[in-house]
Amino acid sequence: MKYNPGLLKLELFCQGIKIDGSCDLENDTRPVLRTRGGLGSGLDLILPPDLYVNVPLEERFVKKTPFLLFKNRYGYFIKKNGQRITEVILPPKPRFYDKKTSSGKLMSRIGIMQGTYLALYITQVCRFWQMQPRANCRFCSVGLNVGKNEELEKSIGDVLEVVKAAKKEEKITFVHFNTGFLFGKELDILIPYIKAVKEKTGLLIGVQSTPTDNLSKYDLLKKIGVDHLSFCLELFDEKKFKQICPGKSKYIGRKKYFEAINYCVKLFGKGKVAAEIIAGLEPPQNTVRAIEHFGKIGAVPTVCVFRPCLGTDLEKTPPPKPKEMLPVFRKLYQTCINNSIPVNMAPNIKVDLVILPEEAKYLLKNHDVKFFLLEAKMAIVRFLFRFYFRFRLFWFDNRSFLPFNRKID
Ligand code: SF4
Repeated sequence: MKYNPGLLKLELFCQGIKIDGSCDLENDTRPVLRTRGGLGSGLDLILPPDLYVNVPLEERFVKKTPFLLFKNRYGYFIKKNGQRITEVILPPKPRFYDKKTSSGKLMSRIGIMQGTYLALYITQVCRFWQMQPRANCRFCSVGLNVGKNEELEKSIGDVLEVVKAAKKEEKITFVHFNTGFLFGKELDILIPYIKAVKEKTGLLIGVQSTPTDNLSKYDLLKKIGVDHLSFCLELFDEKKFKQICPGKSKYIGRKKYFEAINYCVKLFGKGKVAAEIIAGLEPPQNTVRAIEHFGKIGAVPTVCVFRPCLGTDLEKTPPPKPKEMLPVFRKLYQTCINNSIPVNMAPNIKVDLVILPEEAKYLLKNHDVKFFLLEAKMAIVRFLFRFYFRFRLFWFDNRSFLPFNRKID
């Protein structure tokens, strides 16, 4: 059986994995702490050559999976239908997970590793979860976590301590802030946290939030050092959007997503804004249309495979079949290259909950010469950007030793 890492990542998203009795997950890897990003839960694996994937373990559909994770004296391996297909690496548990902040909070209840970056959900629980009747997105699990599996109140001091610990131990380069809907106050709440993290660590910062009416807030985010923005439209079809995301449809509206994405692409530049879509809750051709639309305006289409997490409103809805998803992910990489959208620019950012455009490349069959040349151009841009970022971080971390003295904290 020929090993294809992109295809295996897709199949694991759609089918999950069973755990053999030989595995010792408690001692060998990161714990499965909580459902994440509203659309994840499961075990992080690193597939060769270096693809992070968060694999469903507990959802109903996993009962029928052909995949099995097992351990022997050489390490961890995956079998499909009884046949060994590849070795995998289990990322070790970050040491900071068991440490406490100065205020006595367990660090893993403040922020967690997702792939190779630190994810923080700072704000109070999304208001859609508190409305009567509930207006939360029907696939979402955020309301099942905040205040239960993670701290409800996270001070700037707590957050800074966790970011510094993750930078030191896990060598993170990127911190991702995520919020739910708070009637337009989301970014105002995040701003002091972003300022503090940027000023004290120099790391790349991403913000994922609902769109705001006041577009000038994005200018402020850029000014304080935000590097990346993402907007979760989730469904491209208007009717489906209303049905699956009733709160977003009623209180925000699809139009605002398009406005904010357009505005931010112009402000931040191509490749620095992501438009997130869930594949598997609407026909694949709609997802392909979304990819084409966002690619054309210079946003990075980010596609999550729908996962019916336990406890959510859609827990009984089956995930999509890998075969149905192939045209979607093939389109993803082609669109980014054809529109010269820079992808995979930042060093050491691996995402485990989505198939990144550069990972979707494994699913393509043929490349023509034009495509090859566009890829080569992208590789040069990537090299320069990574060099620049590494230099910036080196400068930041060694400011006190450099001759041109700058005020530091
Ligand atoms: S906006 Fe939707 S997906 Fe985001 S936290 Fe709220 S309910 Fe969940």
